[in-house]
Amino acid sequence: MNCPACNNELQTVQITGVRTHACVGSCGGLWFEWSEIKKLEDRNTGAGVELLHVERAEGVHVFRDIQHPCPHCIHTLLYRHCFSRKFNYEVDQCAKCAGFWLDVGTLAQLPEQSPTEADQQSAQAYFKNLFEENLKSEVLTHPDVHEARQIIAQLFRFLTPQPLFPTETPFS
Ligand SMILES: [Zn+2]
Ligand SMILES: [Zn+2]
Repeated sequence: MNCPACNNELQTVQITGVRTHACVGSCGGLWFEWSEIKKLEDRNTGAGVELLHVERAEGVHVFRDIQHPCPHCIHTLLYRHCFSRKFNYEVDQCAKCAGFWLDVGTLAQLPEQSPTEADQQSAQAYFKNLFEENLKSEVLTHPDVHEARQIIAQLFRFLTPQPLFPTETPFS
């Protein structure tokens, strides 16, 4: 299975029983199959933090402006739920197999442990942009994405160290 954003071969990573496919050593993107997403509800906040810090290479071009092919279905293009130039994140989903593609962007720069006040503020700005600005406006134009928003919140809850994740989880 190849990375939809940079074409590097994805590596299977299993954390707390959740299997993901990570673009290790290149863009750091993450692919979650639908069957794995359903497990996230029961996992602790930050259980998958290792995935946030997979090895990345400098200067990998990820073609943020174009649609990516689904790494599983290959001929289906991923639907873009949201992205941010400022925070460099991107969340896509396959309409056919329902898997999610995630590039967490600047969130990966925050430390796994002992965040400083500045880290807290960076995380706050990031999640405000994602949950309040980006995903809220998407729901106004596409009311059917309510479920997708909840999944996106669960994906980020799984990846983000507990002290950095918003205490009021949106849409839960
Ligand atoms: Zn990649
Ligand atoms: Zn697919």
